[in-house]
Amino acid sequence: MAFAASPFATASTLPYQAPRFDLIHDGDYQPAFEQGMAEQRAEVETIAADGSPPTFENTIAALERSGRMLDRVNNTFGCVYAANTNPVLDKVQETEAPKLSAHQDAIFLNTRLFARVKALYDQRTTLNLNSEQLQVLTLYYQAFVHAGAQLSDVDKQRLRDLNGKLATLETSFQQKLLAGTKAAAFVTNSRDALAGLDGAQIANAEKSALDRKLTGKWLLALQNTTQQPDLASLTDRDTRHRLFDLSWNRSEQGDANDTRDTIATIAQLRAQKAALFGYPDYASYVLYDQMAKTPATVHQFIAQLVPATLAEQKREIGDLQATIKKSGQNFTLAPWDWNFYAEKIRHERFNLDENAVRPYFELNRVLRDGVFYAANQLYGVTFRERHDIPVWQPDVMVFEVFDKDGSSLGLAYFDYFKRDDKSGGAWMSNLVGQSTLLGTKPVIYNVANLPKPAKGQPALITFEDVTTMFHEFGHGLHGLFAKQTYPMVSGTSVARDFVEFPSQFNEHWALDPKVLAHYARNVTTGAPMPPALIDSIKRAARFNQGYRLGEIIAAAELDMDWHALAASAAKQDVDRFESDALAKTGLDTGNIPPRYRSSYFLHIWANGYASGYYAYLWTEMLDDAAFSWFRAHGGLTRENGQRFRDMILSQGHTQDYESMFEAFYGKAPDITPMLKTRALIPGEN
Ligand SMILES: [Zn+2]
Repeated sequence: MAFAASPFATASTLPYQAPRFDLIHDGDYQPAFEQGMAEQRAEVETIAADGSPPTFENTIAALERSGRMLDRVNNTFGCVYAANTNPVLDKVQETEAPKLSAHQDAIFLNTRLFARVKALYDQRTTLNLNSEQLQVLTLYYQAFVHAGAQLSDVDKQRLRDLNGKLATLETSFQQKLLAGTKAAAFVTNSRDALAGLDGAQIANAEKSALDRKLTGKWLLALQNTTQQPDLASLTDRDTRHRLFDLSWNRSEQGDANDTRDTIATIAQLRAQKAALFGYPDYASYVLYDQMAKTPATVHQFIAQLVPATLAEQKREIGDLQATIKKSGQNFTLAPWDWNFYAEKIRHERFNLDENAVRPYFELNRVLRDGVFYAANQLYGVTFRERHDIPVWQPDVMVFEVFDKDGSSLGLAYFDYFKRDDKSGGAWMSNLVGQSTLLGTKPVIYNVANLPKPAKGQPALITFEDVTTMFHEFGHGLHGLFAKQTYPMVSGTSVARDFVEFPSQFNEHWALDPKVLAHYARNVTTGAPMPPALIDSIKRAARFNQGYRLGEIIAAAELDMDWHALAASAAKQDVDRFESDALAKTGLDTGNIPPRYRSSYFLHIWANGYASGYYAYLWTEMLDDAAFSWFRAHGGLTRENGQRFRDMILSQGHTQDYESMFEAFYGKAPDITPMLKTRALIPGEN
């Protein structure tokens, strides 16, 4: 009896080894995970049992070559599970996540294997390694130690138990949150309740209701942040209040989707895990290989941002309360009013409303004539759409990317539209990682949750959405320009507080005069965006920064506090812990709630950003500083782009982050360009 081979058993024969989405079925993932893990176990056993003395080639390079099938299924599954899940895939994730975590443990807790790695590490200066090899060896050694290779057998077993439990809880959190968010959608049978939304948005709400078989109703699905975009336009204060409450309490309903017990347990187990390694708390355990290195550095950095942010928040609250009063109302500002009245001020001050802007931001044009154009002008790369590469969902677009000399660089997929089966937010990852050792070129993808237009209508997006597209493609370029030998240090395989640097840096080009003029054209007339509107967008981008920065600082502090717990601490009451943590920030968190509440803070509970949310601010310091360097050196030029590509974008983790950054910038990063960009201190950036 013959079995069909798994579509993951060998490398795909499609260009760039692109996954065979045309052949892969939901039922293929689980057996492929099992087979992939078994193959890597055998490979690792061969390396560990090698009778010959360890060499870089027979140990480190061999580890880097191992696990090909597992890598293929893992990368592909990671993509579809986050972007296009269903009950079958949920089940696979639930079953395989703890097994994968145990599989990783089995490699990094393998005593014979660690002995070989340690022997190499101890003689690293005499091995004639090149600098990338030395870096890879060092990172392997640290990863083994960090994974518990030096723990006693008893502690190793304790660690395995903790890792298994954590993997299960993290998956459970993610699934509860997705279901809770879906269930907390705002539903109304009164069209009047949606006053303030435009015709297309109301049609969309009707369609969203029909998609869930709700006739004669309108539905607003929740975005993953605390604030919901529609709160800026909804005129009915009760509707706003209800929508905000649905968002704020989405995962705190006391039902099967309530995440509080799960996260309190995760925080406790993480503290216990850190203690096994002798760290005072989980944040200290996590930060050792980040650019910031210690919680103290993070707190110090954030503390520098608070005074200017709080001063701006006070100004904003005064302005909003005055606007409420001016409109003949006499209530006190609440978080659900913020965006609505901020939008009024924005409109007054900058004569700008989203509906006037959207016709100039048609998604396809933004992608081709904006995102791609900027990459072309800076780095010389070009793009060609391919319709012959299979995708995971019909809306996904695929482009082949070519280098300045016409040689092929890689593939880029774009999955932009919001779906109920997609996790919230936006992200980038690789379907195939770059490595000259493995002979693979990068295959990257960008996912977002932009509103899908009704059939036949163009996708008109906000400037924030435009920024998201530039952001995610900044990650994309970091992946595409990778030129490493070893997967461990390739492309975006860098610390969290470095990985957002290229993506946030890329956002700056959305407002570059040359780039903006190229893509911002009226969808009906083709006319360029009027200079006054451009000026308004630029000034508006610097508006409301007390809120914008404040909600991120609050979330970052919340994250740091959850991971500052000692192993001896009791299981926390989530709501009380949260309000205590927010009170300590020194900011106005009553009017300006954290961007994510503990109970729906996906980044820190399931997406690998535990004690890492500060990284968005830290990398903002880096990207604004780098952009100030561009400004000082002539802005958007091929020469400047090439320098950035050579020194940062193509370097992966082949160098220490601080040295890499300082070599480019000429000195250590500082917060001045960041505060200027956000208009919290005078000056331009
Ligand atoms: Zn990002």
